Amino acid sequence: MKYLIKNGRVIDPADKIDEFSDVFIAEGKIERIGKNLNVKPDEVIDAKDRIVAPGLVDMHVHLREPGREDKETMRSGTRAALKGGFTSVACMPNTEPPIDNPKIVKLVRDIIKKDALCNVFIISAITKGREGKVLADFDQVKKTSLAAVSDDGACVEDANLMLKALKECKKSHLLLIDHCEDTKISSGGVINKGFVSTKMGLRGIPKEAEYKMVKRDIELAKKASTNIHIAHVSCKESIDLIRKAKSDGIKVSAETAPHYFSLTEDCCVTYDTNTKMNPPLRTTGDVNAIKEALSDGTIDAIATDHAPHTDSEKGVEFDFAPFGVIGLETALSLAAVELVERGALSWPDAILKMSTNPARILGLDKGGLKTGGQADIVIIDPNKEYVYEEESIESKCKNSPFIGWRLKAKVTHVFVAGELVMNDEVIIYAAEMIGRL
Ligand SMILES: [Zn+2]
Ligand SMILES: [Zn+2]
Repeated sequence: MKYLIKNGRVIDPADKIDEFSDVFIAEGKIERIGKNLNVKPDEVIDAKDRIVAPGLVDMHVHLREPGREDKETMRSGTRAALKGGFTSVACMPNTEPPIDNPKIVKLVRDIIKKDALCNVFIISAITKGREGKVLADFDQVKKTSLAAVSDDGACVEDANLMLKALKECKKSHLLLIDHCEDTKISSGGVINKGFVSTKMGLRGIPKEAEYKMVKRDIELAKKASTNIHIAHVSCKESIDLIRKAKSDGIKVSAETAPHYFSLTEDCCVTYDTNTKMNPPLRTTGDVNAIKEALSDGTIDAIATDHAPHTDSEKGVEFDFAPFGVIGLETALSLAAVELVERGALSWPDAILKMSTNPARILGLDKGGLKTGGQADIVIIDPNKEYVYEEESIESKCKNSPFIGWRLKAKVTHVFVAGELVMNDEVIIYAAEMIGRL
């Protein structure tokens, strides 16, 4: 099929483009971009008053398959991705069994081939079983051409092992994505440590549990002279360390998640377990620091840390509920409402953080609209207001603190590899598309 997207505001941060143009898609590729294109499409999509951008890239999701298909599957997780405008996601290895060897990688690849509705990239574990004891075989990992390694959900607490991992990553040209948490400090905590935790009578997680590890691992990355990527930055102290490291020329990149710039610990006072995540929601000062860091480039990327948990898992006392929230379907709207509307980011900058930069950090040929490139494209109506309702959620789980929120900016169309997979907010796909995407 050949598509012509007309009259849209075309934003491509990779090429610093922000102009009204047409985009012509043919044979799965971006054939041409320009004004008043004289072409013969099979279908025309009018993108007047809409943004046409590279498909969003989420470098941090938990898709739960294999092992916890009751929480999410490749199919439901990638449907949620499309709904949120993501055409590429990178899935974390804390599945059951964990993704820590080529056999499991192959299994996940087969599931992706059979069921994924967008591009899915596999992140493999740093250590065997994500136990923080023995390094996984990075040579093997590299052979299966993965973008990155992470023990996400767990921290590599042994500093010597972490240094060894970073050195191996350098050799194998892999990116290490770092879940920074000193569990000796966070141990038993369920919420940010401070006035709110005291008032609620809950055990607090000091910010130190995060920034101490950020500090240690930036130093180790410097020692190994390799890249490191800090996952889900939640507090000002971590940001200060990353900013300083960047100015010192250390190759550190960082992401934050939408809940860290949209919510504070004050939301937890209802004991709603959908406000329980790791790292925990922090203070207004931290939220402001995150917005500033997004704006000045200290934080490179917005990633959702999409973490589905079932109603029965979350429907328990705050202390016992698992950490994490879903995020694929609300990320763009939260960026629009909390960052773009409030002047922290322009639309091109928001697309940069949600598409171009995560693709660059992972070394993926995504996140841009270059002619001849694979047509992964999203069309956004930036002014569409809506209420986020539970019934609309594509993910298998509904553990979001944003249900009932009035949001703005909606994804209307999504192309993956030139195939129109979402049309006018409705996900459509033909069975034969799967496997070709
Ligand atoms: Zn994590
Ligand atoms: Zn995570």
